[in-house]
Amino acid sequence: MKITCNFDSGNIDVIKADSPADIQLAIRKDNNSDFYQWFHFRLNSSSPEPHTLRITNVKESAYPGGWQDYQAVASYDREHWFRVDTHYINDELVITHYPEAESVYFAYFAPYSYERHMDLLHQTQASGLAQLLELGETLDGRDMSLLVVGEPSATKKKIWITARQHPGESMAEWFVEGLLDRLLDEDDAVARRLLEEAVFYIVPNMNPDGSVRGHLRTNAAGVNLNREWQTPSMAQSPEVYLVRQKMLEIGVDMFLDIHGDENLPYNFVAGAEGVPSYDARMQQLEQSFKQALLAVTPEFQTEFGYELDAPGQANLTIASTWVAEQFKCLSYTVEMPFKDNANLPDAAYGWSDVRSMKFGADTLVAVLAVVKQLR
Ligand SMILES: [Zn+2]
Repeated sequence: MKITCNFDSGNIDVIKADSPADIQLAIRKDNNSDFYQWFHFRLNSSSPEPHTLRITNVKESAYPGGWQDYQAVASYDREHWFRVDTHYINDELVITHYPEAESVYFAYFAPYSYERHMDLLHQTQASGLAQLLELGETLDGRDMSLLVVGEPSATKKKIWITARQHPGESMAEWFVEGLLDRLLDEDDAVARRLLEEAVFYIVPNMNPDGSVRGHLRTNAAGVNLNREWQTPSMAQSPEVYLVRQKMLEIGVDMFLDIHGDENLPYNFVAGAEGVPSYDARMQQLEQSFKQALLAVTPEFQTEFGYELDAPGQANLTIASTWVAEQFKCLSYTVEMPFKDNANLPDAAYGWSDVRSMKFGADTLVAVLAVVKQLR
């Protein structure tokens, strides 16, 4: 029996793996940081017996509440990720696995690989509707890539979308893939009308180093990028520095920053109600966007979410609030669950890569609902 994680976004330490009934594991911390929650590993075993895998250090992880009612995902083909029998007992995450083949992968959520990321960038470029721009390099020497979809023009709205500042939130890049699939579909009326009105500036992966390293929340230096937006630096947070610089150069009329939430079993948005320049216009745009998204998909809801910021009390180191204040525009953090959407549960798959893609595609309808009022 063997457990390995020496691959793209792999993360696990093996404490004990002598017998299928007693496999003990631990999740590694993000480099230079105390955050951990993301795991991704391969089990190779010829035993047909059920396997009991215990992740022993989840109690001190970044979001211990995230393990309650959580089911891990597994895959035999690395394409199709299904939920497996998982329990949070005695401060440990216990996965029971009934082998159908010798080799199986387990993860916190369906991984979005670096290879797939590069395929997404280049397939988008090859569509003829988009340009692929390299903004600079990360600390590990990876490209910071920006997709510009649509024909730039001074009269068009500038809509920015970023994903995976927190690299373990892989659903965020699945969301972007679904959104791009629809936006590039020349038979889709929503996409055609949007591209008449707007240009999309999309960063599918804000944190490629953290993604490849198997981090939950930080970049190669252990920095949480979503607390860097007021004072990013090339030394600590080049990912934010480079994207922010491009935003200041081009301008922003709307911004969506895509994330996953460990605790809440819902899709929701977090807005800019706490930024100093929040006004009736921004509030109206938020209402219109939310109403349109509620109308287009039952995956979205507005009952559950983060506590609202008090007026003027928003944390402006966060991307969506910094952008709202800087550009006085509609700006949202979009959160999807690691668990499931409790309003529309699916025992076999939970919230999934496929549902994230559909949610991304549906979100374009809500963007269309507000696009003319953005500026
Ligand atoms: Zn996040």
